Amino acid sequence: MTKRDYYEILGVSRTATPEEIKKAYRQLALRYHPDRNPGDREAEARFKEAAEAYEVLSDPSKRRTYDQYGHEGLSRTGGFHEFTSFDDIFTSFSDIFGDMFGFPGTRRGSRRRPVKGADLRYDAAITLEESAKGTEIELEIPKAFPCDSCGGTGAEAGTSPERCATCGGKGQVYRSQGFFTISTTCPSCRGEGQVIKKPCRPCKGTGRVVHKRKLKVKIPPGVDTGSTMRVPGEGELGEYGGPPGDLYVVVTVKPHEVFVRQGDDLYVEIPLSFVQAALGTTVKVPTLEGETELEIRPGTQPGEIYTLKGKGISRLRGSGQGSLHIGIKVEIPKKLTKEQEDLLRKFAELSGEEVKDPKKKKLFGRF
Ligand SMILES: [Zn+2]
Ligand SMILES: [Zn+2]
Repeated sequence: MTKRDYYEILGVSRTATPEEIKKAYRQLALRYHPDRNPGDREAEARFKEAAEAYEVLSDPSKRRTYDQYGHEGLSRTGGFHEFTSFDDIFTSFSDIFGDMFGFPGTRRGSRRRPVKGADLRYDAAITLEESAKGTEIELEIPKAFPCDSCGGTGAEAGTSPERCATCGGKGQVYRSQGFFTISTTCPSCRGEGQVIKKPCRPCKGTGRVVHKRKLKVKIPPGVDTGSTMRVPGEGELGEYGGPPGDLYVVVTVKPHEVFVRQGDDLYVEIPLSFVQAALGTTVKVPTLEGETELEIRPGTQPGEIYTLKGKGISRLRGSGQGSLHIGIKVEIPKKLTKEQEDLLRKFAELSGEEVKDPKKKKLFGRF
C-alpha cells in the first residue's frame, strides 16, 4: 500500500507553520467528517488520511523524522501511532477542536449526545420602499416541538424506549477492515441505541410534532437582495439536549416600477423635450419620499446624469444615505404643427443646417 505524502494530503507546503497545518486539517476534517458524508467511503478514507497526516505533522519530533526519512522513518522508529478505530480519530479530532463545531466530545459508546438542531432558511421578498426604510415581517414557519403525549421520547404514554439488542445500546456496530475497525451506525436502531416497541400515536414515534409558528423579524433599513438576517435559536429543535438551530432570513428586494437600485444608490430616468434640454427648465422628479424639483441646465445632453445626494437608500453599514441619479432622456417630437415646423425650419436656416425639403416629403408621402 503506497502512502500519499502528508503535506500533499493536507495541501500545505513543506515549510507550513503549525497554524497553517492546523487550519488545513480543520478544513479537511470538516469537509470529510462522516457525520456530514454518511455512507460515503471516499470521504471516510479522506477523513482518516487527513487525521493521520495531522497527527504526524502537528508533532514537531514526528514531523522532523518524517521530513528526513519519510513514511518509512516513522514506522521504523515506532513514532507513528496507527489509528485503530474511528473512535480514536474522533477523540483526537475533538481534543483538538472541542465543541467548536458542534461535534461530540467523544464517540465512545452510544450516539446519544447533544446535537444542534438544523438551521432553517426563509426567503422574504420585500419592496424597495421597505428595504429603504426598514420593515418588520411576520413569518409563519413550521417548527417541531417536543410531543406532549410522550414527552419527546416517541414511546406510547406509559411505556419507554428499550435498549437495542443488536448493538447493546451503543448505536454502533463494529467490523474490521484492513488496519481499521470500522464502526457503522446500527441498522436496527439507526444509531439511537434504543428501540421503540409501541410508538406514540400523536407523533408517530418521532417524539416531535410540527406546529406553525408566527415570528416577527425586523428588517433593518438598507438591506439588499441577498442580505441575510440570522435569528438565533429559531431553527429546528436540537437532539438529546442540544441547542436549537438558527433561522436565516434571506431577503430579495422586488424590482421597482420607477427606480433601479445600484447598491445604496437609486437610478431613475426622466424624459425632456429637446427644447427643454436646450433651454433649461425645472422638472419634477420622483424620489422615495415623493416628488422634488430639479433644475435642468440649458444645453443638457441626452444621457447626462444629475445626482441628488442623500436621496438614495440608507446604508446598511455605516451612516447616511446613497444618492439618487437622474438620467436624462431627450425626446424628439413625432408630430409637429405647421407653425412649429415653420419655426424649426427657420431654426435650421439660422444654424445653416440642411433639412429635408417639404415638397419632396409630400411627394413621398403620397406615393
Ligand atoms: Zn409522542
Ligand atoms: Zn442498535
